[in-house]
Amino acid sequence: MIEHKNLVEPERVSCAVCFKEIPISEAKSVKATDYIMYYCGLDCYDKWSKQEEKPEQ
Ligand SMILES: [Zn+2]
Repeated sequence: MIEHKNLVEPERVSCAVCFKEIPISEAKSVKATDYIMYYCGLDCYDKWSKQEEKPEQ
């Protein structure tokens, strides 16, 4: 019997904005202070960075 196990599945992360799951190799990542944020693309990164512009204090 042939097993259909190919490569190990790539690690997946969820986009911080739309929560879509994406392979880590395709995600855009941004290092925040002590964690890493992932985005599926520049659109989501853009949305996120605009949110961050508003200071909440
Ligand atoms: Zn996204």
